[in-house]
Amino acid sequence: MYQGFIFDLDGTVYLGERLLPGAERVIRRLREGGKKVVFLSNKPLYTREDYAAKLTRLGVPTTPEEVVNSTFVLIRYLGKVAPGAKVFVMGELPFVAEMVRAGFRLTENPEEIEIVVAAFDRTFDYRKYNIAFQAIKRGARFIATNPDRTCPVEGGELPDCAGIIAALEAVTLRKVEVVVGKPSPITVAVALEVMGLQAADCLLVGDRIETDIRMALEAGMKAALVLSGVTDRKTLEASTLRPDHVFDGIADLEGLL
Ligand SMILES: [Mg+2]
Repeated sequence: MYQGFIFDLDGTVYLGERLLPGAERVIRRLREGGKKVVFLSNKPLYTREDYAAKLTRLGVPTTPEEVVNSTFVLIRYLGKVAPGAKVFVMGELPFVAEMVRAGFRLTENPEEIEIVVAAFDRTFDYRKYNIAFQAIKRGARFIATNPDRTCPVEGGELPDCAGIIAALEAVTLRKVEVVVGKPSPITVAVALEVMGLQAADCLLVGDRIETDIRMALEAGMKAALVLSGVTDRKTLEASTLRPDHVFDGIADLEGLL
């Protein structure tokens, strides 16, 4: 039996502002059984506190320590490989504030910038683009929060971090060095660190076969695909990836308890 459960959020635990059927009960029963629970999101727009507050509001009491999002993963990663580095962030203000809180020195001077971080940025503009371009041209490292092409929103989708990465790659002719969000093993490592568990003791539950399920299987972790989000049976059958469990939704996890 698994000791830890890693849940993707959108399409797995909730859809937009709606908790999915059975989510509250399954997560409560896991916790009552002494299991560790962590929630994963690739979105660099909100803080861990924001996700914890949303889950709590929807009926799943959660602390910020139980949330692993791509900005947290990036901060943990940079804290290890480049502590105290001078950074320029192509991102939104809450992420910039998080970087400052984590002790990074932010600068807009291309001559000082050691690392350019590209994120999903709805405040992207030419000024920031040029700062990042000049810095990378001078040899700054180039890393990113998440590889997602689009971000699903109510009634459609928005261009996500892949567009920001591509914009910089196109003009600098440099490839992004590291993208820390799902399906990167860096995200798995941070989630396991937070839980204090090994991959073999955990189950990852997610709705995206190419990110959630791929990441788990490549990390040697068991994976459960839920069909309540973006993946349907057709997509599953067409994929070479084989999750250990396939459920209609999170409620079916009760069968594992
Ligand atoms: Mg999802």
